[in-house]
Amino acid sequence: PKTAYVRTKPHLNIGTMGHVDHGKTTLTAAITKVLADRGAGTFVPFDRIDRAPEEAARGITINIAHVEYETDTRHYAHVDMPGHADYVKNMVTGAAQLDGAILVVSALDGIMPQTAEHVLLARQVGVDHIVVALNKADAGDEELTDLVELEVRDLLTAHGYGGDAAPVVRVSGLKALQGDPRWTASVDALLDAVDTYVPMPERYLDAPFLLPVENVLTITGRGTVVTGAVERGTVRLGDRVDVLGAGLDSVVTGLETFGKPMEEAQAGDNVALLLRGVPRDAVRRGHVVAAPGSVIPRRRFSAQVYVLSAREGGRTTAVATGYRPQFYIRTADVVGVVDLGEAGVARPGERITMTVELGRDVPLEPGLGFAVREGGRTVGAGTVTAVL
Ligand code: GDP
Ligand code: MG
Repeated sequence: PKTAYVRTKPHLNIGTMGHVDHGKTTLTAAITKVLADRGAGTFVPFDRIDRAPEEAARGITINIAHVEYETDTRHYAHVDMPGHADYVKNMVTGAAQLDGAILVVSALDGIMPQTAEHVLLARQVGVDHIVVALNKADAGDEELTDLVELEVRDLLTAHGYGGDAAPVVRVSGLKALQGDPRWTASVDALLDAVDTYVPMPERYLDAPFLLPVENVLTITGRGTVVTGAVERGTVRLGDRVDVLGAGLDSVVTGLETFGKPMEEAQAGDNVALLLRGVPRDAVRRGHVVAAPGSVIPRRRFSAQVYVLSAREGGRTTAVATGYRPQFYIRTADVVGVVDLGEAGVARPGERITMTVELGRDVPLEPGLGFAVREGGRTVGAGTVTAVL
């Protein structure tokens, strides 16, 4: 029998972000190694994080790997995302609920385009606290690393993060993974910074339950399971739920976190829900599981949108009324048509107000963040201001 999940410490969701090859996955593996050597959790090797085997086995590309670990004071679910352009999609969908982030910057390379893009998106989706890991410090020159540190602090400040106050820790994921004591200590220092600098967020436990579906799988003989992070509220075994998008209602007949059964899941938890009587094909990533009657999906909204500049990986040309990009809202990916009102056009680098009509109904509410994408790249980041 599986051991039940026992909630002994506050739970937070964090993740690594930063430019490809700056060492996010190596550092993630190193964190689990350092903690496992101390008897706190299980070592997850690089290959298991980078290749995310359960995802491959399911034949679904979700491009996001979760690991779990505990420090002395907290339990963390940590997501590591691949460093290519698709990162952004996960940043807005899977990672929208990050309580804090570890920005990994190679001390050898400094800030690169994706470093800046991830900071911008983190701000947009409401990640309020960033701890910097200046990685590859084992191979870096001290003076150059000092410059990189200044550069990173400036970048954070430019995006409203208060770069002077942010912890910047020089680490080597690679050497820590190899057990070099100087560098395992650096990973400890990084975790201390995360423990102290990222505050315990307010959890909306009293709000009606809502979980954006990240992934769907079938457990033979038991039924359909959906996974994701609980956005708000709580859910218990036996609770009735709506499956929005599928147009179904169901009952939660199983509840687990990281393979451990639980009786109640709450806002912030990464969970798998077994849903009674839901056919595998009826539910998809992008659907939302919610307390009955608590949300009504809609398709028209107004929003504030920042159109990324070409330098940030965005478009080189303006967008105009009638533009039809993809909107990434929670875990959903929906086409929408844009109305720019009197302005009519928006150039890369501009912040604008728009009205959007989506191709289908999704649960919407003021304050909800989203990404605007086109041809596989992010061209804008926005916030819903009103549902129409
Ligand atoms: P990611 O794309 O950000 O996930 O980067 P990876 O973790 O895949 O690392 C990219 C490359 O950098 C690999 O060849 C790693 O071995 C190397 N690397 C990662 N961390 C360090 C480090 O702390 N020091 C050195 N010297 N190399 C590192
Ligand atoms: Mg990686």
